[in-house]
Formats: sequence, C-alpha cells, structure tokens
Amino acid sequence: MGQIFKAQILTPKNQKTVLFYDPGYLVVSDEGKIEFVGTKNPRQKYKNYRFHDHSDLIICPGFIDTHNHLPQYAFAGIGDFSLLPWLKKYTFPRETQFKSEKTARPAANNFFTSLLKNGTTTTLTYVTTHFSATNIAFEEAKKAKIRAIIGKVMMDSFSPSALQEKTEKSLQDSLELIEKWHGHDRRLFYALTPRFALTCSSKLLEKIATLAKEKDVYIQTHLSENLEELKLVKKRFPKAKSYTDVYYRAGLLTPKTILAHCIHLSNPELTLIKKAGASISHCPSSNRFLMSGQMPARKYLTASTQLSLGTDVAGGYSLSMFNEMREALETSKSYINPLKPEEVFYMATLGGAKALSMHKITGSLEPGKEADFLIIDPLKFTPDPNTKYQNPTQILSQMIYRGSEFAIKNVFIAGKKLN
Ligand SMILES: [Zn+2]
Repeated sequence: MGQIFKAQILTPKNQKTVLFYDPGYLVVSDEGKIEFVGTKNPRQKYKNYRFHDHSDLIICPGFIDTHNHLPQYAFAGIGDFSLLPWLKKYTFPRETQFKSEKTARPAANNFFTSLLKNGTTTTLTYVTTHFSATNIAFEEAKKAKIRAIIGKVMMDSFSPSALQEKTEKSLQDSLELIEKWHGHDRRLFYALTPRFALTCSSKLLEKIATLAKEKDVYIQTHLSENLEELKLVKKRFPKAKSYTDVYYRAGLLTPKTILAHCIHLSNPELTLIKKAGASISHCPSSNRFLMSGQMPARKYLTASTQLSLGTDVAGGYSLSMFNEMREALETSKSYINPLKPEEVFYMATLGGAKALSMHKITGSLEPGKEADFLIIDPLKFTPDPNTKYQNPTQILSQMIYRGSEFAIKNVFIAGKKLN
C-alpha cells in the first residue's frame, strides 16, 4: 500500500538552496518510489494510501557517507597519533583479525546497523585485503538492506606481511567479488580499493584502472592526507609530478573515482581531478583527529570541484553525518568565506549521491526517486521547546549543530522502514 507522510520537510534543491515544506507531504508508492513532495494536500488524490501524521517531526533525505572503513569502527575514538604511526599501531593489527569470520561477521553486522542508526542510507566502504571478509561485508549489507558500495582493500607493496597481497591475486579476488556483487539487487555495488599510493605498486594501480574500465565499477582511494605521506610518495614515485599525478598516470581518475581527504592539493592537482570528473570525499573530523591538516573546502568549491562528506571512521571518531556536517562548518571558519548549513547539508545528501553517480535514484526527495528518508524528532535537539525557530536555515543549523543519532526516529530505504 502507498503511504502519505505529513511533516516539516527539508530537502536540498542544489548546492546552495534547501527546499522547506511546512507542513509538507511526502507521497510514497507501494514500490517505494516518491510520487509527490510539496505543500499541496494530496489526500484527495491518493485516497487509498495510508496516512501518517508527523506534523511535529522533520523529514529529510537519508545521509550519504562517501568514506569509511568497516574494520576500524571498533577503535573509533582512540588515536593519539598521526596517520602513519596510527595505521601501524591500531589499523593494521585490527584488519589482520578479519582473516577470521568470527571477527568479520559480527563486525560487519554491527557496522551496517550502526550506519542505519545514524541515518546513513548509502555508504562507500573499505573492508580489508581479505576476500572472505569482503564477501561477508556484502552479505551483511544485503541483510541490513542498506545501499552500499563496498571494496576489498588492495595492497601489494610496503605493507605488513599479514596483509600484503600478490598483485595478480589481489586483482583476481577483486574480479571475483565484482562478478558476484556489483549491481546486486540494484542496491550493492563494487569499488576497486587501492588503499593509497604507498601500499601499491605502479603495476597494480595501472591494472586496477584497466579493470575498473572493463567492468564499469567505482574506484576509491586516499589522496594527499598527511605531509609525511606526501614526502614518501615523492620518494617512491619519482617520475610523478605530484601525488595526484601518480593516480592520473595510472588511469585511476574517472567520473566514478572518489578520493578521500585531498588536504594538501596544488592547483594543477585540483585541475587534474576536475577534468577527470573525479570527486573528493571531505573528511573534516578525521583530518582534525589525526592532525592531518585542514582541507580548504571553499577554495575547492570555487574551483567547481565535486565535494561530498565522509566520516572516515576510524580516522574519524563517529559515524554521525550530523557530526561530519558540523565539523565541515567549523573547519571552514579558518578560511575566508566559510561554508553555510545549506552547503554541508547538500554535501551530506545530494552531493554524496552525485559523487556516487546515484543522484537520479537518491540524495533528495523528488518525484521519481527512491524514498530514502529519515524521520527526525526536533525536540531531541531543540534547546528550549518554548522557543521554536521557524526559518529553514535556523532549523537546519540547529539540527546540524545539535543533532545526533538520538534525534533519528526512523530510517526508510525505498519506502521500507528499517528501524
Ligand atoms: Zn580512510
């Protein structure tokens, strides 16, 4: 049966504008597609639809987290080091444990459940170098019914021996996972996942680019996160003009490539990314937590670079996209012309969908799209219930700064209530 939801509705129109319907109506078909959004009462037209009166609540699109690491969630919030020593002390030992299903299965189950609790309906996720752990991650994502692009990490050089792969085996395992999962249920997709330049040979990077083209899959990797990392990349890839050029030469920059961090980019590097149509996953909480630096988001936006938001758990300490939006706002205040609530809301929703080429399916509430949305209780973040602010920017601002998973009452994907 179709459904009608009445609530205050917030949805991005574009990078700068948020549409606000108060009271608004969201009409969802039996198949889970949005049929109508707006202020005109649709109950006459959709007489047989079930009506839900949420007049005191807010409806907004589900969030899209374009960068996170499933195995790392267990140690989120721990990390008194910068990137390279932190990888050694926490990340690699933890990822090694994913050889066993006993670790991989419950961790994957908990991870996707936690993403949904936080209102994330679409995720781009790294697993480990293990075929089995990645396969398990897909199985658990399928059970959770979340939209997910998942990849097995690829590392064939300068990696801990327990995690390092042979180049051909890394590609073969990835190919097998692509065949099995890419496009599954039209909800699960594959991302080839070279961890970063420092753990990959040029040969592996080049072959990944060829495979991505052949199979039309996503590519996710890290770029220009930490200054020590930059120095090492320069040493290991002396022919490359820059860190970005390492990926460019290999053919890894495509419209389906998502590059995490990108803190220390030069203007020619920005141009390479933009020309290729690749996008940047901005990870402000991780950038601060691991003392990597601050990405100049406004400068990148002015240069028309495509930006979305990533929690980068566990470089980031939280799976909450509310947290990521406020970190993006606060970080941008170090620069002239800081970001606005509407802009970070866009990055967490429609901007994320664009980065993942899913903007025709999800990311905003528009007729024809899948009904991926959240029901949010504003009383959970309103400081004084006797004083309510009605201006959409003010409502959005309080929701971003004071919102958390506890304000999310329900999560819907394709019109189905998941929790
Ligand atoms: Zn990361």
